[in-house]
Amino acid sequence: MALINCTECGKQVSDKAAACPRCGAPVETPPPAGDGEAYAGTFPDMAEHGAALKKYAAEQKKTKRNFWIGMAFLAAIIIGSCSAGSGKNSGPSAPRAFDSSDALVMCQMALKRIARDPDKAEIPYVVDHGSGDEAYFAWGNSTKMARMRNGLGLDVATTASCTVSKSQKRITSLTLDGKTIL
Ligand SMILES: [Zn+2]
Repeated sequence: MALINCTECGKQVSDKAAACPRCGAPVETPPPAGDGEAYAGTFPDMAEHGAALKKYAAEQKKTKRNFWIGMAFLAAIIIGSCSAGSGKNSGPSAPRAFDSSDALVMCQMALKRIARDPDKAEIPYVVDHGSGDEAYFAWGNSTKMARMRNGLGLDVATTASCTVSKSQKRITSLTLDGKTIL
């Protein structure tokens, strides 16, 4: 219950009262608060305003979504152009001979593949001890040990060796922990 001022005499009257107890003027209750539609009967332009607001809110939502879709596209384009740029450096446009470092990567990948836990295998960089067409890498006590998980899941140092034919771009021999793999 709220008190309102009588429109005739100004006395504070309950808004629930039908008439002012002092002067008997009928109490006019204000329309209930709400959105535009509640006022539709009294103020037609308010209903229009409410509908316009709703439309605006919906459009804002759509714009926001479009913005994020646009951002995703932009990110994809940036990432795409970056990888295209880096691809140019190592791609066929810049031919480079298969060298010791390529051979080493090939050996490292092969050793990782045969490791029990490829993600945990560590095959350090070692110097190419081969000659001519042959690249030869060895991991052992005198150099750096390759680290791999053994059958018990323990990280252990392992010896390994790898020979690569640079002209054939393939591994010609591979040993791991004294066992010949290739
Ligand atoms: Zn009154």
